Amino acid sequence: MQGLMMDYPLTLQHAFHRVTHLFPRKEIVTQTESEPHRYTYADWGRRVMQLAHALKKAGVGDGDRVATFAWNTYRHFELYYAVPCMGAVLHTLNIRLFADQLVYIVNDAADKVMFVDGDLVPIVEKLVDQLPTVQLYVIMGDAPYATGRLRPSIDYETFIADQPTTFTWPDLDENSAAAMCYTSGTTGNPKGVVYSHRSIFLHSMGVGHVEGMALSERDVVFPIVPMFHANAWGFPHAAAFSGSKVVLPGRFSDPLRVARVIEQERVTITAGVPTIWIGLLSLLEKERFDLSTLRAIAAGGSAAPQALIEGLQRHNIPIIHAWGMTETSPLASLSRLRSYQLDLSPDEQFRIRARQGTVIPGVEFRVVDMESGQEVPWDNQTFGELQVRGPWVARAYYKDTESASKFADGWLRTGDVAVVDDDGSIQLVDRTKDLVKSGGEWISSVELEGLIMGHPKVLEACVIGIPHAKWGERPLACVVPKPDALDQVSKEEILDYLRARVAKWWLPDDVVFIEAVPKTSVGKFDKKVLRTQYEMHSL
Ligand code: ADP
Repeated sequence: MQGLMMDYPLTLQHAFHRVTHLFPRKEIVTQTESEPHRYTYADWGRRVMQLAHALKKAGVGDGDRVATFAWNTYRHFELYYAVPCMGAVLHTLNIRLFADQLVYIVNDAADKVMFVDGDLVPIVEKLVDQLPTVQLYVIMGDAPYATGRLRPSIDYETFIADQPTTFTWPDLDENSAAAMCYTSGTTGNPKGVVYSHRSIFLHSMGVGHVEGMALSERDVVFPIVPMFHANAWGFPHAAAFSGSKVVLPGRFSDPLRVARVIEQERVTITAGVPTIWIGLLSLLEKERFDLSTLRAIAAGGSAAPQALIEGLQRHNIPIIHAWGMTETSPLASLSRLRSYQLDLSPDEQFRIRARQGTVIPGVEFRVVDMESGQEVPWDNQTFGELQVRGPWVARAYYKDTESASKFADGWLRTGDVAVVDDDGSIQLVDRTKDLVKSGGEWISSVELEGLIMGHPKVLEACVIGIPHAKWGERPLACVVPKPDALDQVSKEEILDYLRARVAKWWLPDDVVFIEAVPKTSVGKFDKKVLRTQYEMHSL
C-alpha cells in the first residue's frame, strides 16, 4: 500500500519563497572596508530574481555550471539561490587553491560563467588562457588591479540592472543538481561532489534541527567558514529556511574584526575552523568585548582541542564541536551533552564535548575494522574506519573517477579513523593517512596535538609521523609557543607534560618549535608540508 501524501518537490525554491514572503524585513549584513552593507531579504529576493533573468539572458540553461570565485558577501548569497532556483548548478571555487588545481576544477566542471569578486580578479587573470569553457566573467564590486584580461566581462550591477524583479521559477526535479564543490584533493586530483536540491533541502533541516544547530528566526547567523568550503557548512541555506538574520564577513576574518562584528550585530551563532577560534581566544585573554548574545560557535573541519573548548567556555562561549566532510554536505555529527551527563564533573563534560559526538537525525554511521570489515565494538577503544550514509551523503563523485574505493555497499568510506563509546558517540582518532604507525601499533596524532595544545604555553601543535629505522615511524611534535612564552618553553617541558597523560610509547621522539603551523586552503593544519620539511629529521 502506498502512502497518500503529496509528492512535493524538495527544492531551494521553497526556501526562497518562504524567506522572501515570511521574513522580508529581516536583514542581511556584509562587512566591507568601511560601513557594512545592509539590506533585507525583500531586497535580496528582488535581486536574486533579477540575477536569474540575467543568467537566462546570458544563455545559462538547465544544468549549466556557474562558478563563483568570491568571499562571503551578499552577492555570493544571491548567487546561492538564483543559480539553483533557475535550474543551473552553483560551483563555488576555493579562492586559495593552487593555480593548477583551479584550472583542473574549472575544466572538469566545464563552468560556463564565472562570478569573480573584484579584488580577486588578478588571480583569475593569470589562469584565463587555460579556461576555455568560461564564456562570460561577471565582476563583483571594484576591481582596482584588473588589467582587462577577463573577456568578455561585465560588472555585476550592470548585469542585473534593468532585469525584472520577479521570476517564474521552472518546475525542477528535486534530484537535479543544485551545487557542486570539489574536495581539496589531498591525494590525487580534487573530486567533484554534486549536491541535489533534495540533499540541500534535507541537510538544511538537519542543520536547523534542535539536535543539529537548532536554528530559528531569532538567530543571527555569522558564517565565517567560506561559502566555497562545503557551502559554508550549510549555514546560508539553513538560515534562509529559518528566516534568520545573516551576517557575512566579506574578506575579514581576523579575531578583532570577528569579535567586533559579533558584538555589534548581536550574533547568536557563528561557524569556522578551530584556527579562527584559537585566534579569538587569544584576543579575549587581552581585551574585553560583549559577546553575551553568542549562544554557540560551531567549530569543525579539524579537531577542536579540548583546551580551546574549555578556554572559550571560561568566557561563557560554548563551542559546538561538529564533524563532517564535503561529501556529507557537510554536517554529519556533533557533540552536545546528553541529559544524563549534566551531573558529570567539568572535566568529564569537556572531554565529551571535545568528541565528534552523535550523528544528527538523518545520518547513519558505522565503524568497521579496516582489515576484516566487521563493525568494531562500542568500547571506546577499538579503532576502525568511520563510514556514513544518509540523504545528504554523496554516493559517487562527478565523473565517477575514484568512486569505487570511497563507497562500499551503500556507505561512504570517510578515511577517518574513529572509536565509539557505549552511547554511540564518535571520537575521531585520526585520518587514516595521518596515523603514526609505530612498530605495528597506531598512535593518534590528533590526540597528541589536542593534549599538547592544553599546555599553558602552547598556541598550536601539529604531530606528524617521521620515518624511523627500527619502528617504521615515530611521532614528531611541531609546537608553536604562545607569543608571550616565546623562548620560555622547552622540549623537556612538553614531554614531561605529556608523560603524565599518555602511554610511554606514544611520547614524541622529538619536539621542534616553529613559528606557525602551515595551513591548507581551508585553514586546516597542513601535515603534508611539515612531513616534507621534516622528512630527514633525525630522531
Ligand atoms: P579536506 O580537509 O580534505 O579539504 P573536507 O573539508 O571535506 O576536505 O574535510 C573533511 C575532513 O576533515 C574529515 O574527513 C575529517 O578528517 C576532518 N574533520 C572535519 N571535522 C572534523 C572534526 N570536528 N574533528 C576532526 N576532524 C575533522
